[in-house]
Amino acid sequence: MSGSENIKKLYEKIRQAKHCTALTGAGVSTLSGIRDFRGKNGLYSEMDAEKVFDISYFEKDPSLYYEVSSSLIYDADEKAPSVVHNVLAELEKRGFLKALITQNIDLLHSKAGSVNVIEIHGSPKYHYCLSCSGIRMPFEEAAVVVRRGEMPRCPKCARVLKPAITFFGEALPAAALREAVSESQESDLMLILGTSLTVYPAASMPQYTLRQGGEIVIVNNMSTPMDDMASLHFEDLSEVFEGLKNLMEAD
Ligand code: ZN
Repeated sequence: MSGSENIKKLYEKIRQAKHCTALTGAGVSTLSGIRDFRGKNGLYSEMDAEKVFDISYFEKDPSLYYEVSSSLIYDADEKAPSVVHNVLAELEKRGFLKALITQNIDLLHSKAGSVNVIEIHGSPKYHYCLSCSGIRMPFEEAAVVVRRGEMPRCPKCARVLKPAITFFGEALPAAALREAVSESQESDLMLILGTSLTVYPAASMPQYTLRQGGEIVIVNNMSTPMDDMASLHFEDLSEVFEGLKNLMEAD
């Protein structure tokens, strides 16, 4: 069967599913020119990404995070959503995609127009004070400060605010995780996009779907431990989503 026939098959699966969800990882971001800076081959592997995103280091000296991430995260509004982000948002709009679980912290799914986005590694969509409860600064406001070369500060105590990204040494956001698990259990179809399924707990989400009798489809340019369990398997995200885009436009 040719690639395009399999993409048609995938589109039919998505249309017929009762509860289709997607799980996205770094491979989806890299299409928008965002490098997998936390991954093994990431931009900052040499200069110790663990330090940049380490909570105890941040508590001592938040300037490293803001210096390193200023172009990566706070200029992210210059990065455009890719065809994958856009098609996923359109699928949700048409009622075919119920939820999107992401490991990415670049806000591109929301920017593309996706609404039900579950960010299991957090995101910089707001910044909060580690000392005062209830202080929240939205991304846009913090980004203006960071682009000026300064750090966003708490209006009450002046402490440097921390983005709501999950740092090393912090627990993953419990509410998002609960939601992700329940969406995964409810899924009769899960699209696994641009993730190698090696990082937990993201890697356990498809297992919840399979255990409840749902099926999984994998699109990733590297093999994953669950390839044998996928009812369809593709390597090229752009090819698959350009194909889906054409099929949707013809509908
Ligand atoms: Zn404060």
